[in-house]
Amino acid sequence: MSAALPPLASRWAEAVLGHAPRSEARSDCGRCDRCAPDGPGVFFNPVTRCCTYTPELANFLVGGKLREGGEGADGLRRRIARGPRSPLGLGRDAAWERAYAEAKAAGQFGRELSLRCPHHLDDGGCGVWAWRDAVCATWFCRHEDGAVGQARWRALREWLIAVQDTVAELVAETVATRRVFEGQEEAFYLECVEEAEGLEWEDLRHRGGSLLRTRIDALQAAWAATPEPLPERATWSNITTGALSDGRVRVFGYSRYDPVDIDAALFDGDREPNGPELRRLLQFRVFEAL
Ligand code: SF4
Ligand code: SF4
Repeated sequence: MSAALPPLASRWAEAVLGHAPRSEARSDCGRCDRCAPDGPGVFFNPVTRCCTYTPELANFLVGGKLREGGEGADGLRRRIARGPRSPLGLGRDAAWERAYAEAKAAGQFGRELSLRCPHHLDDGGCGVWAWRDAVCATWFCRHEDGAVGQARWRALREWLIAVQDTVAELVAETVATRRVFEGQEEAFYLECVEEAEGLEWEDLRHRGGSLLRTRIDALQAAWAATPEPLPERATWSNITTGALSDGRVRVFGYSRYDPVDIDAALFDGDREPNGPELRRLLQFRVFEAL
């Protein structure tokens, strides 16, 4: 497994959690199998994969990618020229927000070509990988521990959004004392990343306000959570199913993207799950404690 987060986020997460979170091994983006009709769960458009999304990029993330250069930097420049842009970073317009909400409601996440991310490369890679935002850095289509893992990454996402917002405001304030933004956007963003890299976590935490402190607490609680003891009795949750061959049944619990395949005898109630099976079924919200 590789480090999950971009370098700066990884450094901050290590300061809070004592370790840098590792990637979810079951979401193997280098060999994405989400686009084959017989793949696991809902399948995506092979052109977009899960990247039917446009991230809001904080000023220091934009500056980091511009400094890095290479493939993907031009896409960023096009976004800067087109807007919306501000000293805090690159945003999205109302038309995008509307189209994204409609596509999601229609089950078109990962499918709607018109929503393909402007940073998505033709080989399926990400043009801003080391500088991607909190949403992209913490989204996985599958989790080792099902809903338990998903909850950890959601807590991390909310924390990282608060960190990004805090950093963006702090560095924009500093850079604005010596440079105007309009007409010098690239130079402005480049100075933002230099400032962001110079921030110490303790200083950031101190200046981040109550929202950041609340999210630090939630992050630490989510990542410290230990597995609950197995319940005495458990039953099926509100699941949906899909047929499989070979006497197996595909069962969807916590996510339409991350099913569990079980044998028909278990599904039909002809046998009880053993201990490890029960733990997994509970983690994936296929079963629930009574
Ligand atoms: S997270 Fe996205 S790119 Fe990675 S395996 Fe899942 S669908 Fe494919
Ligand atoms: S920024 Fe990268 S990871 Fe995020 S949606 Fe775009 S291409 Fe995908």
